[in-house]
Amino acid sequence: MTRPAYPPAPTTRIDLHTHSTASDGTLTPAELVRAAGAAGLDVVALTDHDTTDGWAPALAALPAGLTLVRGAEISCRWYGADPPIPLHLLAYLFDPTEPALAAELARVRAVREVRAERIVALLNADGIDVSWAEVLAGAAGGTVGRPHIAAALIRAGLVATTTEAFGPQWLGQRYRLPKADIDVFHAVRLVRAAGGVPVFAHPRASRRGRIVPDSLIVELVGAGLVGLEADHEDHSPAERAHVRALAADLGLVVTGSSDFHGTHKTVQLGAYTTTPEAYERIVAAASGVTPVASA
Ligand code: AMP
Ligand code: FE
Ligand code: FE
Ligand code: ZN
Repeated sequence: MTRPAYPPAPTTRIDLHTHSTASDGTLTPAELVRAAGAAGLDVVALTDHDTTDGWAPALAALPAGLTLVRGAEISCRWYGADPPIPLHLLAYLFDPTEPALAAELARVRAVREVRAERIVALLNADGIDVSWAEVLAGAAGGTVGRPHIAAALIRAGLVATTTEAFGPQWLGQRYRLPKADIDVFHAVRLVRAAGGVPVFAHPRASRRGRIVPDSLIVELVGAGLVGLEADHEDHSPAERAHVRALAADLGLVVTGSSDFHGTHKTVQLGAYTTTPEAYERIVAAASGVTPVASA
């Protein structure tokens, strides 16, 4: 079938990395999908840290014209470096009831609470007056993360912004504690076993801390890694080009996404996007749950 050249087919806008109050975003899952629709997105993935709790409320609020990709961003660590290097694995369309993966996510959520409480204790030992009860209340039942401690530091007037709270004298270094994340090879295998599609989030984001060598990414492909996130605000243009070239070499899917966190970050929904071809490869590789389009 032919169609007239004008008007052009609407460009499909696909953002595969966002956070809600189910983890460290500031919009509820329902508010997030409504905002994604209002921002003109056609597809949005909800990828809260280590939880699928936002999936049901996001689905229930899905606006017309928007497709929801259910996902998560899994806290992983590469134990081949000394000290081990933390990294984030996006996982799309996995079966949330698969017991081994669900158990690991629950374990990581629990260790996150212990670690955040220890960070608050370190702050308190230095006379910095933020309370664990307040931080926990701020997380409101969602996965606890450093952004919730950052928010408490802002409320206490100790720092002005989240970026400042992640500086080296605060949560970026001085009051940073490691957590017992999932071994990244184990995580890739668990996601695949649950029918999901693992994509390495912001793999070259050196401003967040140490990054892993490309040789690790090559090994992860052997374990079942499907894609690399190239277009992300934490990557410089040179880093994006490097990730694209590596993905081309390895036959991996390339994604771009906002990593929207509401007011915990300045980036907006749809600031970076994924091509329809890359999205289709992800959907084709998945067998856990399907994308859901609103009626
Ligand atoms: P956690 O998962 O507790 O280690 O905290 C990491 C989270 O903090 C990330 O998912 C981001 O949401 C946020 N984050 C990390 N670095 C920064 C930064 N420099 N500025 C603002 N937010 C950040
Ligand atoms: Fe986050
Ligand atoms: Fe991340
Ligand atoms: Zn993220």
